[in-house]
Amino acid sequence: MKELSRMIQSLPESGIRKLQDAAREVPDCIRLETGEPNFITPEYICEAAKKAMDDGFTKYTPVPGIKTLREALAKDFTERLGKEVKISEIVVTGGACMALEAALGSIGNPGDEVLVPDPSWPVYEMQVMSLGMTPVPYVMPAANGFEPKRENIEPFITDKTKAIMVNTPSNPTGAVFSEETVRMIMELAEKYDLYVISDEIYDFLIYEGKHCSLKALDKDGRVILISGASKKYAMTGWRIGYLIASEKIIALVNQMMVAMMGNATAVAQKAVEAAITGPQDFVGFSIKDYKARRDAAAAIFQEEQVGFSYPHGAFYMMVDISCCGMDSEEFALKLLAEEHVGVAPGGTFGKSTSQMIRISCGTEMDNLCEGVRRLCRFIKKYT
Ligand code: PLP
Repeated sequence: MKELSRMIQSLPESGIRKLQDAAREVPDCIRLETGEPNFITPEYICEAAKKAMDDGFTKYTPVPGIKTLREALAKDFTERLGKEVKISEIVVTGGACMALEAALGSIGNPGDEVLVPDPSWPVYEMQVMSLGMTPVPYVMPAANGFEPKRENIEPFITDKTKAIMVNTPSNPTGAVFSEETVRMIMELAEKYDLYVISDEIYDFLIYEGKHCSLKALDKDGRVILISGASKKYAMTGWRIGYLIASEKIIALVNQMMVAMMGNATAVAQKAVEAAITGPQDFVGFSIKDYKARRDAAAAIFQEEQVGFSYPHGAFYMMVDISCCGMDSEEFALKLLAEEHVGVAPGGTFGKSTSQMIRISCGTEMDNLCEGVRRLCRFIKKYT
C-alpha cells in the first residue's frame, strides 16, 4: 500500500500521553501527570444538558455556535477585557485544542514560522507542524520566573515569522505574565507585524497578581484569544472551547470549522451557556481549593529542600531534577516504577525544562501530598 502521512509520522510524541498510558497500567498509582481538574462538572451544568436533550436540542447548530452562548460569551469577555467583544467575533469550537488549530490554520501557510514558548503545552508544536509550518522555540527562563524577556524573542523573528503563541497563566510553569511582559510581546508583534495566538484558558486561576490579557491590548485585530470551559468549569470531557478574533479572521475560522467539525456539540453548548450565565460559586470554591493544594505541596518541597517553581496561576508546578543525573523521561518512568507516582517529563514541554518534571495539583489534597512526599524521597535517593 502507499505510504501513510509523512507529516503526521514526523510529529513528536507527547510525553504526557506516554506517561498517562504507562501510569494507567500501575493499579495504585498517584496520578500527578495529567492536567485535568479532579472535580466533576457541577450539577446545574449537567441539568442544563439533560434539559437540552429532553427538549430535542440534538441537531446541527450554526457553525460558529448557538447565538445565546455567543451572547453570554460576548458579555463575559466584554466585561473582563474592558473592551467590546461582538458575537460576530466569537466561534465556539471542539475544545480550546480545536480553537488553537483553527487559529493557526486561518493565519498561516506552509513554510511560515511560528514562535512557540519553551516550555509550553506540547500540542502547540504538534499543531504548528501538522499545518506544514515551522515551530521556532523562544525560551521563558526559569531565572526570570518563566517569563520571556525581549532578548528571548526578538532575535528569533525572521521574514518568515507569521505569529507568536503565548500562554498566560502558563502550562506547565504556572507563570502569570506581568503587564510589562505582555506589553513587550504586543510591542514586538506590532513592530514585526505578527499575529498573536494567546491561550488564556487558565485566566480564572490566579493566586497572586492579576491576569493581563493580550487581547485587551489589541489595537488592530492581530490577537486571537483562545479559551474554553474545560478547566474553569471542570468540563474537560464536554469539549467546548472558544476563539475570539477580528471578523476577518473569524470568516476563515468558520471555514475551518466547516471542514473539521461543522459545529461544536449542541447539548454541550447549552451546558456551557448555563455554566457561564449561572452561579459562579463553584469557580470561587475550586480556586481556593487549588490554592490550598499548591501551598501544601510547596510546604513539602520547602521542608524537604527540593527545588521547585512557585506558581502564581494555573494548577501546575515544575520540580528540579537536575541533581539526579537522568533525563526527565527516564526519571518519570523510574519514579513510576519505584514509587508509583505519575509525573510529566519536563523535556516534553521544551528543551529548557529537560532537567525538570511537571506535577499537576488537579488531584485531591491527600493524594497530592502523598505523591509529593514520594517524589521528594525519590529525588533524594538519586541525588
Ligand atoms: N491550552 C492549554 C494551555 C492547556 O493546558 C490545555 C489542556 O491541558 C488546553 C489548551 C486544551 O483545552 P481543551 O480541553 O479546551 O481542549
